[in-house]
Amino acid sequence: MDLGLGGKVALVTASSKGLGRASALALSQEGAKVVLCARDRAALEETAAAMPGEALAVPADVTDPATPRRLAEAAVDRFGGLHVLVANAGGPPPARALEVDDQALQAALQANLLSSIRLVQAALPQMRAAGWGRICLITSKAVKEPIPALALSNTARTGLWAWAKTAAADLFDEGITLNLACPGTHDTDRARQAGMLGDGPVGDPADFGKVVCFLCSAPARFVSGTALQVDGATTRGLL
Ligand code: NAD
Repeated sequence: MDLGLGGKVALVTASSKGLGRASALALSQEGAKVVLCARDRAALEETAAAMPGEALAVPADVTDPATPRRLAEAAVDRFGGLHVLVANAGGPPPARALEVDDQALQAALQANLLSSIRLVQAALPQMRAAGWGRICLITSKAVKEPIPALALSNTARTGLWAWAKTAAADLFDEGITLNLACPGTHDTDRARQAGMLGDGPVGDPADFGKVVCFLCSAPARFVSGTALQVDGATTRGLL
């Protein structure tokens, strides 16, 4: 199957490790030129060197409001455009719903809601100019079924899902799709450090990256406004 990604320019944020890295790798394997971002320069450059195709490493914190525009400009300066956005960020710490305070909520909203919205807004001018765009927001299975110990994540990510569902309808006629990829437990550093492995199905980040890559492909042009569970059938709800 030709995914139509050869020569396309893809920005993947929070991509030195884990699901972001796997998504960038899958896109690069399909011939996309990738722009990578993470805060740690050394880890990021190591990841960029592991890409089979052209890759640009831009050290940046996605929660900084200035970052999205800077990343979009870097993509245009280096590769001449921006066709694909995979917006990812580190997840918030565990918290029970009745224990959260304003500071923790605001940090979660910056990382897991506002940064993605800003990234979409920064990428759109280039996608609109090309009449073609693919946007995938990496979130969590929690958008369909809140996880009791992850109240911060549940709150920020369901807000993002509501925003994305609204925006996808506004963008569809412009040739731009917008979807969520919603991971269940995957074998990444984060999952290992959080002790998440071992009590249920565990996904391979490389497979997850390929699912993201498909959502960003040319033949997925009619797939928009979806929140795709990638969770080994662990979500029990019907929606
Ligand atoms: P990870 O810790 O393995 O990788 C996170 C990546 O994000 C790293 O490259 C890190 O440097 C980068 N990063 C973190 N904060 C950043 C920031 N402020 N600015 C720029 N880069 C930043 O994590 P992961 O497991 O790949 O998770 C990715 C996302 O998916 C997280 O939001 C996580 O909550 C969510 N998620 C993961 C799982 C899982 O099982 N792995 C399940 C559900 C949801």
